Amino acid sequence: MVVNKEKTEANSEKLDIMQHSAAHVMAEAVQSIFPQAKFGIGPAIENGFYYDFDLPRSLTPDDLPLIEAKMNEIIASNVPFVRQEVTKEEARQLFAAQPYKLELIDEIQDEKVSLYRQGSFIDLCRGPHVSSTGEIKAFKLVSIAGAYWRGDEHHPMLQRIYGVAFDTKEALAQHLKKLDEAAKRDHRKLGRDLDLFSIHDEAGPGLVHWHPKGAVIRRLIENFLTDELIKRGYDMVYTPHIAKLDLWKTSGHWEFYRDYLYSPIEVEGQEYIIRPMNCLGHILIYKTKRRSYRELPLRYAELGTVYRYERSGVLHGLSRVRGFTQDDAHIFCRFGQLEDEVVGVLDLARFMIDTFGFTNYRVLLSTRPEKYAGTTQVWEEATETLRRALARIGLDYQIDPGEGVFYGPKVDIKFEDALGRAWQGPTIQVDFNLPQRFNVTYIGEDNQEHSVAMIHRTVLGSMERFLASLTEHYGGAFPVWLAPLQVKVIPVADRHLDYAHKLEAELKGEGVRAEVDARSERVNLKIRQAQLDKIPYMLVVGDKEVATSTVSVRLRSGEQLASQSYDSFKETVKLAIVNKAKDLRL
Ligand SMILES: [Zn+2]
Ligand SMILES: [Zn+2]
Repeated sequence: MVVNKEKTEANSEKLDIMQHSAAHVMAEAVQSIFPQAKFGIGPAIENGFYYDFDLPRSLTPDDLPLIEAKMNEIIASNVPFVRQEVTKEEARQLFAAQPYKLELIDEIQDEKVSLYRQGSFIDLCRGPHVSSTGEIKAFKLVSIAGAYWRGDEHHPMLQRIYGVAFDTKEALAQHLKKLDEAAKRDHRKLGRDLDLFSIHDEAGPGLVHWHPKGAVIRRLIENFLTDELIKRGYDMVYTPHIAKLDLWKTSGHWEFYRDYLYSPIEVEGQEYIIRPMNCLGHILIYKTKRRSYRELPLRYAELGTVYRYERSGVLHGLSRVRGFTQDDAHIFCRFGQLEDEVVGVLDLARFMIDTFGFTNYRVLLSTRPEKYAGTTQVWEEATETLRRALARIGLDYQIDPGEGVFYGPKVDIKFEDALGRAWQGPTIQVDFNLPQRFNVTYIGEDNQEHSVAMIHRTVLGSMERFLASLTEHYGGAFPVWLAPLQVKVIPVADRHLDYAHKLEAELKGEGVRAEVDARSERVNLKIRQAQLDKIPYMLVVGDKEVATSTVSVRLRSGEQLASQSYDSFKETVKLAIVNKAKDLRL
């Protein structure tokens, strides 16, 4: 495996400054086109910048070249960015016509406010910026989106323009190419084109409906994962989606996690909530008996669907949702077993990431935050245990200081997709809080009661987000074992339909997902459709194939393979599926 080195700090900071300076230039350009514009904020973001505007009319993509042209003029005139400090009162007067800026000024703690001016345009800003507009070497405005002021749907909806800026034209061109590729691979687009899933206003935002084809992929992932878990000594369990509010008070979720919880439902005078996590059900199962040290470790796994409130403004396709199914598990063990258990989870995590075809990943070990449960001593021991486990399995990692959850240290693995974008993958968290709150214990060799060590861990994260990552990684061209439909049989004419249906039935009998395209359309059109559907194999069958029991095989890439006997095709496809082969060529 490959561990990526982070961009050097200095390098990315310099780029951030240029990106952010470009946002100021964009704001000036927008002001010159819309003198009535009201300004929100304009930060640099990963790989770019944006600025939010309140404008008299909706922007269209046609506006972007006009704004760019204006920006180019400002850059060509190479005017300096000049810093200026004024009192809050002076700032209020300067921005009297800018309600959003006034709101920001009111929140500034200092008596002095810093402003930046380029030419006649002035903005409220802490800086820093490049010294003059000419230092913005290459930029492009890429999209327009709606964004609530301060991300809050109770506030006005502003118009956000996204842009990118780079040191060189080459770097910009390379980035734009990547954006273009990312747009083609966007799982929301492919999810629609390939008929994988949908989200409905009528049902509510962030709630995913899995269509038959998406459900095939999910079932394959879940079955593969479940089989692997059982091999590795996990027990599968099922627990309810709602539970009494009191249980969540005992756990501390009601206190610490309330913002993410849906309001209680009253049933027979008792309040219940929809679960945001699966942990508590597993604890209740554990606690149905007195557990001996001989039984440990116990590993309870569940494909547990949970519901968390997220603001509608931050929801995004399958990757940020309100209801999702985690491949969750909780391991109950003795403290002395913690290291082996973490090694076991890391090994499983690596196996899964590799099998699904992700080759680059980055490992982070998050340590004790300012507010924490348990003693510093148990934190140190557990963090040391995680370090030893990572070393034993040979994973390089970086420390994320203070980023552990309040109840224990954790390891996060982020994997990269084909475009080098990071996705949240496996997490392993040690928990000192819940065992204590629920008095989760075992009877030791000494016949005394001891507190268990508890691990929460997920490997794929959630089925929803994992499908998003797979879809974007493969651009919808899933490996043959995951493809919803693996073989499309395409008869040349109606007289070949019988043979085509015979192949379909035989392939299905062998567990291969096959289907005949029986429409009376031209062969080329059917091939084109199968390619758009990203079906791995197309079998074109005509007179010759019928007469000789052969098939003519085409791949979704357009590659044509040598004509071969049906039997040999069948055997190799079956092998490719069993081996989870990445290459379709037979
Ligand atoms: Zn600024
Ligand atoms: Zn948990």
